Amino acid sequence: MPSNLRPDDGCTLLIDGKLSKGSGGVFATGNPATGEHLGWAADARTEDMAAAIAAARTAFDDTGWSTDPAFRARCLRQLREALREHIEELREITIAEAGAPRMLTAGPHLEGPVHDLGFFADLAESYSWRTDLPIAEPMGMRTRRQLRREAVGVVGAITPWNFPHQINLAKVGPALAAGNTVVLKPAPDTPWCAAALGILAAEHTDIPPGVFNVVTAADHLIGAQLAEDQRVDLVSFTGSTATGRSVMAAAAGTVKKVFLELGGKSAFVVLDDADIAAACAMAAFSVCVHAGQGCALSTRLLVPRSAYDRALEVTAATMSGIRAGDPADRRTVCGPLISARQRDRVESYIALARREGGEVVIGGGRPAGRDEGFFVEPTLIAGLPNQSRVAQEEIFGPVLVILPYDGDDEAIRIANDSPYGLSGSVWGTDPERIDKVVSGIRTGTLGVNGGTWYSVDAPFGGYKQSGIGREMGVAGFEEYLETKLVAYPA
Ligand code: NAD
Repeated sequence: MPSNLRPDDGCTLLIDGKLSKGSGGVFATGNPATGEHLGWAADARTEDMAAAIAAARTAFDDTGWSTDPAFRARCLRQLREALREHIEELREITIAEAGAPRMLTAGPHLEGPVHDLGFFADLAESYSWRTDLPIAEPMGMRTRRQLRREAVGVVGAITPWNFPHQINLAKVGPALAAGNTVVLKPAPDTPWCAAALGILAAEHTDIPPGVFNVVTAADHLIGAQLAEDQRVDLVSFTGSTATGRSVMAAAAGTVKKVFLELGGKSAFVVLDDADIAAACAMAAFSVCVHAGQGCALSTRLLVPRSAYDRALEVTAATMSGIRAGDPADRRTVCGPLISARQRDRVESYIALARREGGEVVIGGGRPAGRDEGFFVEPTLIAGLPNQSRVAQEEIFGPVLVILPYDGDDEAIRIANDSPYGLSGSVWGTDPERIDKVVSGIRTGTLGVNGGTWYSVDAPFGGYKQSGIGREMGVAGFEEYLETKLVAYPA
């Protein structure tokens, strides 16, 4: 039976297998492309979150979920099947609620992560849960040792709004596959994307009650409860570095494991032997994708001073050719920002760039004819040093800062002169020079000459203040595992 994934009654909570509205009633969700009211989502209160945590705890402690990988794999495949059966409905929700460009829903915004659930289902079945170590003689005693990997327990997953399905599924998939139970707390801007997962899990899978819970709320601090509660064993957080700090601090009280995917200000380094035009066009294009609301987008373009004028010209021409537009239109790459608040934030950085003496080469305003919704024009900023705030801080909009450098060593130094280290790009011709730059940049992922690092079997995460741990790949799965060493007399 088809499920209604746009619950008109706002019943978006899934707690202990039951869908409900929760104690706080409902809150309104909006369409960022039009500013119009979209519908309702359940507004959870503290007692709802407490009930979800209790359900997840009981399901972990009192059922066979954590010790039955074949059953978990089956449940994850059922969930994937249900998502696929509802893919068109999900696509429209994702476009309407997250402002996701339609063309990206065929990839990382929806269909990609749905497909990727299969990777974690397969991993649950193929993983070596028990490994024998060689016989050893610690302190003269011959010992047989077995290394066991076990689920951590109750996982609190806190997610942002920018790529809701990708991020929700990159946590829920491996956490469940590894045998944990989960409480998912999505961002208040995208409750329906998360609720759809809960509805489909409840109505189309054998996932036992309490194993997977979804708690939507208007109040951000409902998420803090997951970090503080001692019944939660691990918090998996994606969001801003500022919130990540407070999640980490809140989790310290119960010394729980914290996994953090945070902000970025990645560098796109164009070496002087690169095809300057191709590289700059790519840098200009990619910063406009989903209106720049991607943590791993490269938002600082480092170009050799000798080629600066040419680089500026190509980058400006490419960005001026990209219109911020209706995400439902299949030609749109750059949709709206998620909210008026986020648009204010982006505009305040553009104003700051001007105050700091920078030049807004392209864009800087709101696109003509888009008075409704939260659009900002693709914007190129020049004339500011890497030390300026617009070059140091994450803006999370379609804003690119271009910076000249002298010599490869200075390019590496500028790329690293950032509190972040999430991603980046290097473009050039000489493999040795490229390799030196790749080795020199302290970052979690790097694309060379347009190479794509994003893939479910490849770990993704940050150095420095971009996070702790890795998402996706076997490394991402193992984040949700404990290690137990058992020793027997040999
Ligand atoms: P945010 O930090 O404001 O919120 C993220 C989530 O945390 C939301 O669910 C929010 O309700 C919740 N939250 C807020 N305050 C909290 C608190 N005190 N305790 C617990 N939970 C709390 O981030 P956002 O604005 O929703 O998303 C944008 C940010 O996410 C950007 O900084 C971006 O770089 C980052 N991000 C990082 C990655 C990554 O993988 N590194 C991916 C996507 C987004």
